[in-house]
Parts: sequence; structure tokens; C-alpha cells
Amino acid sequence: MAIFDKFQQLAATRQSMAKSGIRSIHVVMDRVVSATEAIVNGQPLILAGTNNYLGLTFHPDCIEAACDATRTLGTGTTGSRVANGSYSAHVQLETQLAEYFSRRGVIVFSTGYVANLGMLSTLAGPGDVFVIDADCHASIYDGCRLSGAEIIRFRHNDPADLDKRLRRLGARIENTLIVVEGIYSMFGDRAPLADIVAVKRRYPGAFLVVDEAHSLGVLGSHGRGMAEEAGVEADVDFVIGTFSKSLGAIGGYCASDHPELDLIRYANRPYVFTASSSPAIIASTRAALGILSAHPELRRRLWENARRLYARLQELGYHLGPEPSPIIAVRFARREQAYSLWTALIERGVYVNLVVPPATPDGSSLLRCSVSAGHTPEQIAAIGAAFADLKTSCRAVFD
Ligand code: PMP
Repeated sequence: MAIFDKFQQLAATRQSMAKSGIRSIHVVMDRVVSATEAIVNGQPLILAGTNNYLGLTFHPDCIEAACDATRTLGTGTTGSRVANGSYSAHVQLETQLAEYFSRRGVIVFSTGYVANLGMLSTLAGPGDVFVIDADCHASIYDGCRLSGAEIIRFRHNDPADLDKRLRRLGARIENTLIVVEGIYSMFGDRAPLADIVAVKRRYPGAFLVVDEAHSLGVLGSHGRGMAEEAGVEADVDFVIGTFSKSLGAIGGYCASDHPELDLIRYANRPYVFTASSSPAIIASTRAALGILSAHPELRRRLWENARRLYARLQELGYHLGPEPSPIIAVRFARREQAYSLWTALIERGVYVNLVVPPATPDGSSLLRCSVSAGHTPEQIAAIGAAFADLKTSCRAVFD
């Protein structure tokens, strides 16, 4: 049974969760009522652990587009675009994204994970170098590993450390890709992208990749993400992102001005050897992108909600991520504290994400809240009230 030995650590973690009364972290939603509410075991819950930043999963235009595409094009494409051909909707979505980002080309992938896996593993190979922020998402690490290139990590959000590591590369700089995210998924903090770009400019030949998974639709006056917010879009070589958060569907993209992008499509194994997205997904994503562009007030509402909840949790004395953001990480030193309070929040009608090491960058345990433009002021107040109640009714957990 040697192949199972490596799961001992995981078994121990799950046992310690069971001791804290957590039967399963996989909450099964019997019914999803709206972008912000579900029924679990007969109990209504406010969803504050999605990445549904603009609340578009139940938008009537997205639902209608998905239903119509299914009726006219069927439920699935049943193969890769390279083998089976593209549906015109795939091409239209790529054109729509290219126009939105004002980029020469876009490749659409089946998930955001696959976008990182495919682009990073194809852009670099043995002999090349990735210099990546230490807190980058697993899909970035996996894409870098698959490439066979050398991986160098720089201290999270530390442009001076990035500079030091680039300096050491000498002539290898022309084979180097820097990879960062727009908003980091665990603590909700932003990359200091203007400073990172200033460093990149000191090393001509280096490329910059930005994963805007959590910043598309959230930052920038048109919602294009951190690069737009920082005014440095022209310095970003490859913008990567996902349809599974602000766009409320599933899928990923890479946008670039490099003319080689289209060629990269055919060398990109995670793109070539997987089925393309179903017509429903492409159609709802196209509708959601139109809504994201036409309704900046959704972004304003999202930020109002995020700032209100962050301020309330801060006032209650919780240890939070470094800045207000639609991702609000409530941090605990011990995982048992997070286990107990996560369960207690569900009992109080609020669902957030439970994140424990090794999934967290610094070994802390998190109740990760994610705020949506779809939350009503009453729901934001109810989430705050549930956290307030924990402070009195679960006092012992905080010791
Ligand atoms: N990049 C980042 C930064 C992410 O947080 C995630 C998902 N949480 C992904 C990529 C992968 O996206 P998807 O879930 O759409 O595959």
C-alpha cells in the first residue's frame, strides 16, 4: 500500500477537522437561490465565499444566452478546437476580449487553471527562467513546473527583491518571464504593479505576465484589472485571467500584443489536448463581458460592500488582510480556531471559505470572505452581525 503512504498527512488533517466537529468541508448546496443565497440542509445561507464579484451568475441575459446557445448549438463541443474545429462563438469571444483589452490577440481556454498551465508551460522551456511572486496561485506554479524552466521566487509584493533576483540573471534576462497576480487570492492584497513595471523596465528583454483572475471586473475604470488601475497595460506582455469569477461562468483567457500568440496556440498542449468550452459557457461569458463593460456601477457597488464589511470586521477587532478588498481574509494563528468559527458561522447562516495550511502562504488559517456586488446592504450587515456574535458566543476560541 506504499503508494497511499503519502496521504497520511492529509488523513491527520481530516481527523483533526473531524475532532473539531467538521464533518466535511464540502458543503452540498441543495438549492442555489441567487448569486448570494443557497439552501444547505434545509437552512438558508448567505454566500460570502464565492468569487462571484459582480453577482452575474443569475443575470437574466447570461442565463438566456446560455439557454439559447444550448438549444441552437447543443450541450458540448466534444473535442479540442484544433481537432474538431472552432464554433464561431469561440472566435467571436476571442475577438470581443481582444477589443475589450485593446490587444492584438486572445486565446480562450477551458478553465483559468488551464490558461496558466498552458501559457506558462508553452512560453518557457528548459534553459528559460521564471521569476515569480512567492504567493502566486497553484496554477502558476504548476504551469512553471510543467515548462521545465528554472523557477526563482521573489518575496511577495517586494519589487526590490525582484530587482535583486533579476540582476543576478545577467544575459539570461532575455529568457526570463516575471509572473505576478493583480489581486492575490488569499489575502486580497494588490500587486504594486507600477513599481514592478519600473523594475522590469530596467531589464530590457524580460517579459511580464499578470494573472488578473481576481482583478478583472474589480479594478480599473473599465474593469480590465490591476494593469489598467496602475496605468501600465502597455508594459504587460501577457494578461491571463478566468471566466469563473467576475464573469460568473468557467474558462480562461490570455491576451497579448505579441504576434506569436496565435502560433503558441498550436504548441500549447493543455489547449490542444482538451475539449473546448461548451456553447452555453461561451454565450454566457460573452453576455457577462458586455454587462461588465456597460455597468461600472456594479464595480462601485462591489467596492462599497467590500469597504463596509472590511471596516465592520476591523472594528470588531479581527485580524484581516492588509487592505480593503472584495477578498477579506480573517486570519487565525491556529487552524482549530478557523474550524470552530467556520462551523459557527454556518450555524448563523453565513457561508465563507475555510482555508488552512498548506493552502495559505504564511501558515495562518483563514476564514476567507468574498464580497459581491450582488450582496444587499442587509446581507452585508448580516455577515457583520454573525462575526460580531462569534466574538461574544465563542469567546473561548479567541484565547
Ligand atoms: N489564477 C488565480 C490567481 C486563481 O485564484 C484561480 C482560481 N482560484 C485560477 C487562476 C484558476 O481559475 P479557474 O478556477 O477559473 O480555473
